[in-house]
Amino acid sequence: MRGRRAAARAVPPRPAPAPAARTAARLFRALARATPTPRTELNHASHFQLLVAVVLSAQATDKSVNRVTERLFPRAGTPQALLELGEARLLAAIRTIGLAPGKARNLIATSRLLLERHGGQVPATRAELEALPGVGRKTANVVLNVAFGEPTIAVDTHVFRVANRTGIAPGRTPEEVERGLLRVTPPAHRLNAHHYLILHGRYVCKARKPDCPACVIRAQCAWPEKTAG
Ligand code: SF4
Repeated sequence: MRGRRAAARAVPPRPAPAPAARTAARLFRALARATPTPRTELNHASHFQLLVAVVLSAQATDKSVNRVTERLFPRAGTPQALLELGEARLLAAIRTIGLAPGKARNLIATSRLLLERHGGQVPATRAELEALPGVGRKTANVVLNVAFGEPTIAVDTHVFRVANRTGIAPGRTPEEVERGLLRVTPPAHRLNAHHYLILHGRYVCKARKPDCPACVIRAQCAWPEKTAG
């Protein structure tokens, strides 16, 4: 698996065929007009808090994460404070969120590593981020994008769904969709592409009942099941 991921990273994306690139360019222009300054909905006041919130958000909604971090961050908003809080009390603080035991264990181990290896700071490279317990490619992509302004495109469930339904970057795995998105997304929209797609998937192109009649990218969407508007 690691070898495949490394290979995926090493190969620059091939340019998209012209019609696909034109459709994607129109789609991103429409999303940019609808949400000119998209932002993450995970509340945070530092790179470390962003990292914690993104780790907590795996298989949990941003709202449920914000409810937890609203109480957690004033008590333990730094690696040192989280380490001092300890795994048992951290688990009690985040127990309403899915996969809480594993997340508590990973966040304590990550806090320790940040203090030991990075002076308590969140590192700015993919390799260093993915070396932290509980930090995979998606989490690293979000942190690189939101904290460090890199044009990475994290593929979560919403981005995966919108990319597949619209047909701009179909794929069976998040990595496949990410490669497709990097191929078709115009450079000017790469920094915000993740947020355009995640917000569109969360509020319009919803899993069970997409709001196709109100969709601003309806004209660019190739989903055969899109509803009449
Ligand atoms: S037209 Fe419907 S299916 Fe297509 S992107 Fe919009 S909401 Fe999603």
